[in-house]
Amino acid sequence: MASNLYPAYPPDLNDERKDYLLTNLKDWSIAHGLAVRPASSYVSPEQDPSGALATTAPVTLFPSLFPKACFEQAQSVAKTYNELYSAIASDEGWLKEIVEELIEIDDFIADLWKVHLAVKAEGYVQPLNLGLFRSDYMVHVDPSDSKSSPTVKQVEFNTIASSFGGLSSQVSALHRHLRSIDAYPDDGPTVEESALPSATSVLNLALGMAKAHKAYGTSTSGSPLCVIFLVQSPERNVFDQRHVEYELNESHGVKTFRLPFGRVLADTKVNDQRKLIYTPPHAPNKPFEVTVVYFRAGYSPSEYESQKDWDARIQIERSAAIKCPSILTQLAGTKKVQQVLATPHSPHLKRFLPDEAQAAEVLKTFAPIYPLDKSEAGQEARKLATDPETATRYVLKPQREGGGNNVYRKAIPDFLKGLPETHWPAHILMEMIEPPAQSNVIFRNGETQKGEVICELGIYGACLWKDGEKDGEREVRENFEAGYLLRTKGSGSEEGGVAAGFGSVDSPLLVDV
Ligand code: ADP
Ligand code: MG
Repeated sequence: MASNLYPAYPPDLNDERKDYLLTNLKDWSIAHGLAVRPASSYVSPEQDPSGALATTAPVTLFPSLFPKACFEQAQSVAKTYNELYSAIASDEGWLKEIVEELIEIDDFIADLWKVHLAVKAEGYVQPLNLGLFRSDYMVHVDPSDSKSSPTVKQVEFNTIASSFGGLSSQVSALHRHLRSIDAYPDDGPTVEESALPSATSVLNLALGMAKAHKAYGTSTSGSPLCVIFLVQSPERNVFDQRHVEYELNESHGVKTFRLPFGRVLADTKVNDQRKLIYTPPHAPNKPFEVTVVYFRAGYSPSEYESQKDWDARIQIERSAAIKCPSILTQLAGTKKVQQVLATPHSPHLKRFLPDEAQAAEVLKTFAPIYPLDKSEAGQEARKLATDPETATRYVLKPQREGGGNNVYRKAIPDFLKGLPETHWPAHILMEMIEPPAQSNVIFRNGETQKGEVICELGIYGACLWKDGEKDGEREVRENFEAGYLLRTKGSGSEEGGVAAGFGSVDSPLLVDV
């Protein structure tokens, strides 16, 4: 881990100040929906049988330091990433080649592809696509040149269920509030208002959905229009989603409903014009025509327990609702695609980003990623991954989302020993990014933990595009950067997921380093 990048921070808190800060943090968080539910990670289910208790989301006490130039770098490539991934999602022929390498060894990818093929055979009826993406980065300092400027390197690109846009805006507001009430000590480095970038994720994610809702056009079924938030049940991250939902309703007048993935077949149908009709169980006489289905579910194999769940996915995919994301857009976000783009000397990037300057900016954000197949790069990766010494610089990832699926560093050689070699290509091997250390205090499950932390910056992007007549053709209708997320975890933890139980939500304090 690179050291000495940041000034000494944060200042120490004496007992009285810590008490003042925490009291305000807890009250503000609950008052503003910076919360998760249930609280059962530290309240037993017996004490909370109805799951009604909510608790503050895991947060940092102080905004973490983040190099200003790195923050701006990540923001500046957001629109190009939207271009890139919308182009990939529109290029079925190219995606097919990627998917074909995985079909025999990854049932989930194979099943997603089958959904696409089934709908393709019938004919897609909705050419519009909405992407609410999030590109995740860590700060990288070249270990061979300690004087070089830090840059951001991409951890992964999310095309489905990119979460925490709702809570991100709130945690940034929390840190501003704590600053405004003098909760932070004024000896030592101070938290300047101007160094706290404004948080726009709620506004922009809702704006992206509102644009898609409008682009859908008018109702032809005679029913009023609505947006569906397709959610998991139970859903711990409900408040994160609610912030976006309320913004969509209050600023854009768009009606939204939360639909658990398991209720799709019961509560929706596709009419003879292929419009998706949603009938709320609480008001069965008042159906709605669905303009946009926003997926906060359906990304994990465990959500597809039987054929019924796949039928539900097909029902949505074949409908005229705008999918956020479509199956092809979901597949564009697989780690395999990221690897194919980022393998050193890959020729693929320029297929999707013909503008050389744009491609160069994206390329700068790539960390080396290798396949584990029989190609030349794959052979090299197999050596790196099976040697206990070199494996410590890498992470092994399957084609999964949502945290808890990766294999880190010294665990990689043994993991591979236990896996038939035919299945190795279902994984990618990625160099670990080693962000510079700093300290902070995390408030999680009612307790504070002070220590060395590392941060992961997510930049959201919104993109609305229309597929053309021919494969690979599309017209981008909307393309904007849509705010940020900062997540922070103890530097000893490999995973960073907040919902998965490892990290906390944070906001950046921009510094010149
Ligand atoms: P998921 O789809 O499960 O979120 P990620 O690729 O984001 O998978 O990996 C999960 C976490 O593991 C990240 O949030 C990050 O904390 C850590 N991680 C993943 N790849 C790297 C990497 N190359 N360098 C450092 N940390 C990484
Ligand atoms: Mg991730």
